[in-house]
Amino acid sequence: MTTHTANEEKRDERFEYLPCNLCGADDYAVVYHAAPPDARKVTSDNYSAASFHILEDQVVKCNKCGFLYINPRPKSEMIVKGYSDAVDETYVSQSEGRLATFKEGLARIEKAYPQKGRILDVGCAAGFFVKTAKEGGWDAYGVEPSRWLAEWGNNNLGLNLKSGTLEEAAYPNNYFDVVTLWDVLEHVPDAAATLKEIHRILKPGGLVVVNYPNIGSNLAKVFGRKWWFLLSVHLYYFTPHTIKKMLEHNGYEMVVHKHHYQKLKIGYLVFRVKPYSKALFKVLNPLVQKLGLADKDVTYYASQSLAIGKKK
Ligand SMILES: [Zn+2]
Repeated sequence: MTTHTANEEKRDERFEYLPCNLCGADDYAVVYHAAPPDARKVTSDNYSAASFHILEDQVVKCNKCGFLYINPRPKSEMIVKGYSDAVDETYVSQSEGRLATFKEGLARIEKAYPQKGRILDVGCAAGFFVKTAKEGGWDAYGVEPSRWLAEWGNNNLGLNLKSGTLEEAAYPNNYFDVVTLWDVLEHVPDAAATLKEIHRILKPGGLVVVNYPNIGSNLAKVFGRKWWFLLSVHLYYFTPHTIKKMLEHNGYEMVVHKHHYQKLKIGYLVFRVKPYSKALFKVLNPLVQKLGLADKDVTYYASQSLAIGKKK
């Protein structure tokens, strides 16, 4: 590993160079090098709820606290624009698998917060979790930067989702019992700022629920650079240690940390193999279609973890 500080590097105008979002230090070592600049496509199309544009960016590790993040990265405006403009039919097509995953997620939340109450899903996409929570007896809200997804949820799921960023929604102080971030914290331009804003709108003792791809997991270690969660859309890479620190720095106590299981259709999982191995996809896809497995739900553990923080 080579050590750099941001000001020593030759800078590319399309990118911004950032200090550590966890401890503020501007002192890091490169863990994964970026693809050569000429080979890279830097466009807002890389940013959407279901984007799986494989990582071409540089991943660094903070020398002070060990936090892993993409640095430098495309400017925040481009990232937010990408999410605002996103049209995600592949995301919406996975509604049944997502509903099943969210039912289990809600049950996990109710274990930690049995009294129910007012819940907000940040980056709610088309609102499948909001719908699940509403049916479970919660007063459920959702906010989503993609106008297309929020509108799809409002029209097709009968919800009242807000389109825009969390900050733009400007919810009142001490308003929510629970705020959820399903596959979201690693995508937001400023993870610490998002957790601070959630802290403001949570009631004292309220919960923030975060699931994240765990780069400290054995799967991440075994697959290294080929780990499937190393994506351009994932700006931050948490471990159980750094998520705990991140929660603590922003006013929470971590009260739950566990494996997070997901459900998806087999056909969709096979589709996700394609960017990694066209050869494998060509073998698997006809097989799955022939056996009629494409629409079958599977439960799988793909190195995701769930952390719950309680507002102090
Ligand atoms: Zn740090």
